[in-house]
Amino acid sequence: MRRRWLVILLTAALVLGQGILPVGTVSTDHLGLVEAAATSQPTVTSADSYGVASQQGPYWKTDSTIQDRTTKPYPSFVRYSEIGAILRDIDKRSPRVKVEVIGQSALGHDLYLVIVSDPSVHGRYGRYQALRNTMLRDPAKAQEMIKQGADFKVPIFINGSIHGNEEPGTDAALRLIETLAFDNSDEVREILDNTILLFNVNANPDGRIVNARGNGNGFDLNRDLITLSQPETRALVAQIVQWKPMIFLDLHGFVDPLLIEPCTPPHNPNYEYDLFIKWALDMATAMGDRIKDRVGLDYQIPYRDQEAGWDDYLPILTPMYAMYHGSIAVTVETKERSETGVEAHYQSVMAAALFAARHKMEMFHDQIEQFKRGVLGDKPEQYPYAYVLPAGPDQAHPNVVADVVEALLVHGIEVHEAKQPFTAGGTTYPAGSYVVLMNQPLRGLANTLLWEGEDISYDIPAMYDISAWQLPELWGFKRVAIEEPFSAQLVQVQKVKRPQGSVQNANAAYYVIPNDNNNAIRAVNALLERGAEVWMAQGSLPGFGQGAFVVRADGQRQAVKDLAKDLGLTITGTNSVGGSLKPLRRLRVAALGQGYALGRGYVDFTLRELGFDVTPVTVSDVASGRLADFDVFVNQVNSSNSAFQQAIRDFVAQGGAYIGIGADSAALNQRLGLLPVVYNAGKRDDNGVVRVVNNTEHPVMANYPANDYSFVYYPAWFTSTGDGVEVISRLQAENFFMAGHWRDRKDAAGSAVVVGGTYGNGRVVLFGTDPLFRAHTRGLFRSVANALFYAAQD
Ligand SMILES: [Zn+2]
Repeated sequence: MRRRWLVILLTAALVLGQGILPVGTVSTDHLGLVEAAATSQPTVTSADSYGVASQQGPYWKTDSTIQDRTTKPYPSFVRYSEIGAILRDIDKRSPRVKVEVIGQSALGHDLYLVIVSDPSVHGRYGRYQALRNTMLRDPAKAQEMIKQGADFKVPIFINGSIHGNEEPGTDAALRLIETLAFDNSDEVREILDNTILLFNVNANPDGRIVNARGNGNGFDLNRDLITLSQPETRALVAQIVQWKPMIFLDLHGFVDPLLIEPCTPPHNPNYEYDLFIKWALDMATAMGDRIKDRVGLDYQIPYRDQEAGWDDYLPILTPMYAMYHGSIAVTVETKERSETGVEAHYQSVMAAALFAARHKMEMFHDQIEQFKRGVLGDKPEQYPYAYVLPAGPDQAHPNVVADVVEALLVHGIEVHEAKQPFTAGGTTYPAGSYVVLMNQPLRGLANTLLWEGEDISYDIPAMYDISAWQLPELWGFKRVAIEEPFSAQLVQVQKVKRPQGSVQNANAAYYVIPNDNNNAIRAVNALLERGAEVWMAQGSLPGFGQGAFVVRADGQRQAVKDLAKDLGLTITGTNSVGGSLKPLRRLRVAALGQGYALGRGYVDFTLRELGFDVTPVTVSDVASGRLADFDVFVNQVNSSNSAFQQAIRDFVAQGGAYIGIGADSAALNQRLGLLPVVYNAGKRDDNGVVRVVNNTEHPVMANYPANDYSFVYYPAWFTSTGDGVEVISRLQAENFFMAGHWRDRKDAAGSAVVVGGTYGNGRVVLFGTDPLFRAHTRGLFRSVANALFYAAQD
């Protein structure tokens, strides 16, 4: 299933009346489904780093140590721990099959990529690699090359079971590999003569092992394709970027009748949708007809059969992401968890492969046409000539800019750096500014990352999931769209340049770390863990801005030097520090967030990435008194459990810090009466980028601009803020909604969205926004870190 919550479907269906087909089975997609214990602790990777997995190794090495599922949902189900040996055996016996390990899951399990291609036909890769390079650089020449003859093969990518509890995708992939490895039927010959098949056999090993939707970090991987916070999606995207598959099939379950995309409107304007739909509808029909014929199942195609509610607007889903790389990409939702469910996936892939074999000349021509439109810069109006990321004092910290450039490169986007100052759109930009020219093969993806998004609230009654995601507002950096061509001395960036970091005046008694990027938080947490004495300025520290961190140098000089270098920070020594300073300590953080596996989710993941000592807890943990072991409780969940509620009241009254995130937590506050505010909430599917006014004097908003942006998903806002309640951030009074889908919003204008105050001996901060959302909203993470430091006891 792509859907998160049944309630969204029902909402959409009610609003739309006719036009939405009922979705039959939504049984296993609830939150936090866990059936077995984890076998190991998650590997921590930096949320702000894009090390694409490149570890290669023997793919049969791990297996016997894995505590895998004990029961099989259907006889042909293959446990994750059995997959390596099966693939090794096929690889040994068939010259058509090559197995690679392309990365590891959050819990360290191998991701297997199986390449099936008959080397006796046009060689193993069938001229594809030469064509691939040409089609990006000189698409017209590549189109000419394929006109000369049919002696090439096209790549088809099959992604198996990215949702771990939608098992049949992986079993169908294994069956297909077996067939294609050994069979010599006419159909198999036709496929092998014309295609290279790439199987990401099990896109989510952690989820398959414990029968959960998410991976070991509790993430829905099929929402992470832009953020790439997880190792599984980084590995997958590296393959998509490298192969540019002509067809991409994402195998899911369970929808009745079985569902094959293409999708309903709205379609994102950054797609070359005409080139896509020209093939996608016919391919889906061929797939569905074969399933009906061979398996006896009915099928639906949202594009053809529905009016709205199953859209492809958002690029965070795997097939939608692949569309930006020129793929005819569709989700297939098989009907059931059974042999029939496996068989349907099997037949759908066979049909798509045959469709590709029969139309490869025209389909491949059109895929190249997408890149050609980009390279020629023949631009529809939503594309500017270029985006500039200006260098200079108005820009975000160099670490933020380096993260952005790195992300763009990982997505396969061309980025240039200006070697000299240049003038564009009437403004002069300094040398060192970055330029993303929009006449490039992946301009659609570049634009979807860097544009301002759209307010589509009134274009369509309800959206499938989020409808705004752009990086500048959510990662917190400045970009300028330039409409008219300009000249500048530009050099293409091959590798991101990270700031060096340094310690000035290294022999002083104290060090000051400005509170202006996520790595400052990481440095502070690392120093606290070492037992260093650290303070946070409650207000401005002259020369260092708001909320700066002060470290006693004694015993920490080498550590500070190393951290400055590793984290790209400029740290300054000083012998006297004035102003109001709050002593910090290593915080023990309990987190209760919404997640998809093993009781974990993006709240605890993101805080751990910032270096906090975080323990995920459950409602019953809290109810049974476990908060006594912690300094801070970060909570995203509402519950009617009265022991849970009383435990939170007691914890805060006795001096504990409480950070509430999102509308459910705001509703809980109303029940608990921690802060005297009245909360209001939008609908669960209201979402988008909002304009806010920050109280920059407040420690939580240290070094944030007064006029800034935030993100909401199921928004909450606060009215009737009573005595002692501090308004930390509020929605702008006019025109606060920038991009996304949120209709009934006018009552929220000008209202508080982040508030703070005290309850008993403890402090409380409530976010009605979603500042850690799926580890994506990086520019907002620091406000939550500040809230933890602010709310915790001295
Ligand atoms: Zn799914």
